[in-house]
Amino acid sequence: MVTIETDVLVIGTGGAGCRAAIEAKKHVDNVVIVSKGPISKSELTIMTMPGFDATLPGDEEGNVRRFFEDTMAGGSFLNDEDLVDVLTKQSSEAVMFLEGLGVRFDRTPDGKIYRAQGESEKYTSDIKLRLDDNMGRTFYNALIGELARRQIFLKEDVFIMDLLVIDGGVVGAFGIDIRKGEPITFLSKATILATGGAGGLYSIRTGSPRDTGDGFAMAYRAGAEIIDMEFLQSNPAALVYPESVRGVVTPGWYLFMGKGIKYTNKNGEAFLERYDSRKEMSTRDVKARAMHTEIVHGRASEHGGIYLDFKGIRLEGTTLETYLKKNSPHMLNYVKLCGLPPEKILNEVIEIGPAAHFTCGGIKINTRCETGVKGLFAAGEVTGGIHGANRLAGNAMTDIFVFGGVVGNQAGTYAKSIGKVKLSKVLKEFIKAEEKRVVSILDRKEKNGVKAAGVRKKIEESMFTYAGFGRDESGLKKELSILEEIKGDELPRVYPVDRSRIYNYDWIQILEFDNMMEVGEMIARGALYRKETRGCQNRTDFPEKDDKNWQKHTLLRKEGDRMTVTTSPRRAIS
Ligand SMILES: Cc1cc2nc3c(=O)[nH]c(=O)nc-3n(C[C@H](O)[C@H](O)[C@H](O)COP(=O)(O)OP(=O)(O)OC[C@H]3O[C@@H](n4cnc5c(N)ncnc54)[C@H](O)[C@@H]3O)c2cc1C
Repeated sequence: MVTIETDVLVIGTGGAGCRAAIEAKKHVDNVVIVSKGPISKSELTIMTMPGFDATLPGDEEGNVRRFFEDTMAGGSFLNDEDLVDVLTKQSSEAVMFLEGLGVRFDRTPDGKIYRAQGESEKYTSDIKLRLDDNMGRTFYNALIGELARRQIFLKEDVFIMDLLVIDGGVVGAFGIDIRKGEPITFLSKATILATGGAGGLYSIRTGSPRDTGDGFAMAYRAGAEIIDMEFLQSNPAALVYPESVRGVVTPGWYLFMGKGIKYTNKNGEAFLERYDSRKEMSTRDVKARAMHTEIVHGRASEHGGIYLDFKGIRLEGTTLETYLKKNSPHMLNYVKLCGLPPEKILNEVIEIGPAAHFTCGGIKINTRCETGVKGLFAAGEVTGGIHGANRLAGNAMTDIFVFGGVVGNQAGTYAKSIGKVKLSKVLKEFIKAEEKRVVSILDRKEKNGVKAAGVRKKIEESMFTYAGFGRDESGLKKELSILEEIKGDELPRVYPVDRSRIYNYDWIQILEFDNMMEVGEMIARGALYRKETRGCQNRTDFPEKDDKNWQKHTLLRKEGDRMTVTTSPRRAIS
């Protein structure tokens, strides 16, 4: 079996992983970065729209403080204040890092970086940076070049199955090289999880089906604590119709917020004002709850969503084509590609609905991105605590490029301080047994078996129905029993239709199921435990926010074979 030795292993080539690898390489010679697909095709970072929240060098202190306060308010005051402090104070440095690689954020006519006010009109910080509508692509053009320039070893198409743990510390990871279908082991002094979120557990999602939450599950199995997994964010502009584009975020929708665009129900009522005086400018958690309530109370659109009505848009005396050319050329191209004359959009009403978008909870970290497990660090969407109960639009970019920097420096420094790591006899045996188990899946019989696609559908649809955007005790208990049933009855019988080893995604999908089971359980257990509605958690049987009892984190741990849930106090600034 192939074994690769390295100082720092970075799992994930999203913004968090790339920045981490670049920073780590400043401290040590040998940095390896892996992803389970090709770089710039297997991350959410590539799908990013143009929102990036940041202050800029030379900003008055008040703007940084307001950014902090806005992030806390957006997160329903459940954010870890120490992490938000790092996020907001280091955001300008993250922008400079990207500009240093050649990224050019949009400029004002006098050459300054352009920015607008944050997500909601109640929020006051000037933080919203813009790039052309293809922000993710622009980032990768710069990041891929920098990884190569620094001679960071990039290994694509490697599915990491698990971390290697000796005496409670992580010494690397074990996985499958998807191109060859062969097992592969990494031995590393420091390991960084930057594996993104878990939106792929849901049948309607804005991101990728490969977002199966592997990092949460691996960290949990290695002994890390996981916080606030119930806060799964819905995007309030995901299309529900036509069926073929279900989950896709309406391109450019954010350009029209506050410009007369309306969320309406089947009666034509602009309903958001019944839920929040900020109406269309309210945060995403508020919109998601309002949309869900309209849908379940019989006021849904024709295909089960609600309407996004463009008819009231005011464009300050210009045509839509000119407006889009200036603000969103990407959207203009998209509209033209669909064969629509741009102005026609202003007569349109489209159907949108809830879709899994961002995992606010995750691995518990401190301000050095340490996980509490020796040798294991984490950054990006796989971590929890930064965004509290709801992430502000544009703050994921800040998160990944700020904490990507922190984690790279920290892991690099740590790796430099310790000696060579070795595989113990027990670990060698574990790897051998895993290899045998994994390869034997290819020989599973069709008779009495179940196909992977069917299992996947069951997980996704039940998660959306029972652990989605309107939850209650009976539904969450049902979801836990469905997961238990899949684990006990179907997973031992699931077989791949394709029996070859090379690029066999049916096989890899089966290997992902173990992680999906664990992460599904985390979300459902967290949601069941938290008996209130707050941020992205919409408990229809506990519809009010309950600060007295619940301004604290849920905390998941592995104890033996059991997943336990407790709470931990919210960390105020230290
Ligand atoms: C449609 C859409 C639009 C968005 N727009 C914005 C926006 O405008 N502004 C904003 O702030 N945020 C936005 N977001 C959110 C943001 O894109 C993500 O939160 C962020 O990119 C996550 O970055 P990351 O580095 O943590 O993970 P990702 O970019 O998702 O990367 C995860 C990496 O981990 C790898 N990986 C995962 N599991 C394994 C495994 N088992 N083995 C090996 N590799 C593995 C993957 O292959 C990938 O390389 C958007 C999200 C979506 C879906």
